[in-house]
Amino acid sequence: MSAASTTDVVVDVTDLHKSFGDNHVLRGIDFSVRKGEVVCVIGASGSGKSTFLRCINLLEQPESGTVLVRGTDVTDRDCDIDGARRHIGMVFQQFNLFPHKRVLANCTIAQETVLRRKSAEAERIARENLDRVGLTEKVDQYPSQLSGGQQQRVAIARALSMEPQLMLFDEPTSALDPELVGEVLAVMRRLAEEGMTMIVVTHEMAFAREVADRVVFMDGGVIVEQGPPDQVIGDPQQERTREFLRRVL
Ligand code: ADP
Ligand code: MG
Repeated sequence: MSAASTTDVVVDVTDLHKSFGDNHVLRGIDFSVRKGEVVCVIGASGSGKSTFLRCINLLEQPESGTVLVRGTDVTDRDCDIDGARRHIGMVFQQFNLFPHKRVLANCTIAQETVLRRKSAEAERIARENLDRVGLTEKVDQYPSQLSGGQQQRVAIARALSMEPQLMLFDEPTSALDPELVGEVLAVMRRLAEEGMTMIVVTHEMAFAREVADRVVFMDGGVIVEQGPPDQVIGDPQQERTREFLRRVL
């Protein structure tokens, strides 16, 4: 990689391993993402996709290997983990909103407590991002008054309000009723078009095919195959990838 392009690397993972007890879940992952790149991670349940994402923002402590986030080794025990994590937004399958806080407050709390923004500024940024996900009208509602798709869009706005340099999505539409999936994917597609750097674990093959710059297929804790979507989904080279796609397509 040239010196110029190296500065564009947002995440650089080398030989990442993770076990839970004697369950060796990640078995040597090498992976990097450049600024503005959209990577979709596909693979069967249990293949280690969530653990992989969680090691990137240190919700799980990697066992060995290195994870560089914008050049900082977040696995280094002396590193400022909260500082590194601040650059990374995460959206989960379960939206994890605060049920007793209104939509607006859901999007301001972390800005105020983690980034120490004044409440007026946090509110302004929250409103901008709620606009961005099409929820201008819902700022004063409680999560329970919203549909699942709207709640997930709040979760996206909340993450964006931290102005992350990388967004991680872990099956963001898997908990939604089918008719609500499209509105969330549309928001994610727009983010991708705006140049957000994204790693998306998803079973939505049509989304991966249209929006991803690169598709990564994981199986048994390793990356089996990766490349442009037309190759990995359209013309997979590995038998394990073909077998997975036969089951899901
Ligand atoms: P995926 O997201 O691809 O379905 P996961 O990363 O969630 O896969 O899980 C991979 C393996 O790691 C599974 O065997 C799962 O049971 C195990 N695992 C994940 N998280 C934990 C945990 N916190 N404690 C113990 N085992 C875990
Ligand atoms: Mg998972």
